Amino acid sequence: MGDFPTTRTKTPKPKPADETLSFGKVLTDHMFLMDYDEGKGWHSPRIVPYGPLSLDPATSVLHYGQAIFDGLKAFRGDDGKVRLFRPDRHAERFNRSAGIMCMPELPVDIIRQSFDALIGVDHAWVPHMPGTSLYLRPTIIATDVFLGVHPAHSYLYFLILSPVGSYYSEGVKPVRILASDSHVRAVKGGTGEAKTAANYAASLAGQRDAAAAGYTQVLYLDGVHRRYLDEVGTMNIMVRIGDEVITPPLAGTILDGVTRNSAMTLMQDWGLRISERPITIDEVMQAGRDGTLREMWGTGTAAVVSPVGTLGYKGEDVTINGGETGELTRKLYDSIVGIQYGRTNDAHGWTSVVEPV
Ligand SMILES: *Cc1c(COP(=O)(O)O)cnc(C)c1O
Repeated sequence: MGDFPTTRTKTPKPKPADETLSFGKVLTDHMFLMDYDEGKGWHSPRIVPYGPLSLDPATSVLHYGQAIFDGLKAFRGDDGKVRLFRPDRHAERFNRSAGIMCMPELPVDIIRQSFDALIGVDHAWVPHMPGTSLYLRPTIIATDVFLGVHPAHSYLYFLILSPVGSYYSEGVKPVRILASDSHVRAVKGGTGEAKTAANYAASLAGQRDAAAAGYTQVLYLDGVHRRYLDEVGTMNIMVRIGDEVITPPLAGTILDGVTRNSAMTLMQDWGLRISERPITIDEVMQAGRDGTLREMWGTGTAAVVSPVGTLGYKGEDVTINGGETGELTRKLYDSIVGIQYGRTNDAHGWTSVVEPV
């Protein structure tokens, strides 16, 4: 590990104070690059000073969006050790995204080595303040210089790192979400299961309209019946109705969230009844009206869990748990965060320590 050709920066950037960190604005001193060419495969892995990429304006990714990414975090524990959370599962998903977008996969092992090597070099950039972390953004873009629509023959893999602040600097706060009857995110057979750039460009209008109506996030319904819950913003969705925790199945339109899987695993450990099943907005709204909708939350790397305090649909709002964070939502948050920072027993072996180099 870590024996990639490395060019260290001669002009290290000043590191901002942990208290000033937000999301994704500060990038570290180095980046990891690797090229792919048809016939040659992946080659020339290297760590170089962070800086702009130079791309011909006819580079295919700039026109047709053949691009994938992933997002995961490393955490500095109270013991000073830096731990990555479920890097293998993120690497596997990155490859699933690649497959959907007709892009070449990368050996999971190489992806893992790129994470460890780059964090090793920029280890001092992992912030210390509770709630902060180092966000990793692995990305692959198509680099053919050609204006035809086709899967490219050449690609660039890059990995960049960003120290980020606590998502909940003012405490875990329930959000207002709007089940959209005008925008859809994905349909079966499309790209909903891939973390691909185009999905996020396509989500902007729905987000804009929800914000204009006074909501924080969009709850997407399925594109065919416009009835079944898909996802909320860039998070997976879970609802607790009576004794049952329900989350939509991985049936081709939603992302296989690593946080979703972690939350489901923990709830199974706790003996809860988890159903991966289609659930309609009518069932959720009805449960909201009759008081059986006990909790609702989104799951994702950025927030871990995001409690839903208000759900709006077709002009009606239901309030969930009095607009407060529910007990299970809270327990999931505390448990996952405890594992990430090495405070609690990591029974499933989800974290791996990264050493400085
Ligand atoms: C990244 C993402 C998620 C959450 O995945 P995690 O692995 O838990 O971070 C859910 N939905 C969408 C659309 C996403 O992009």
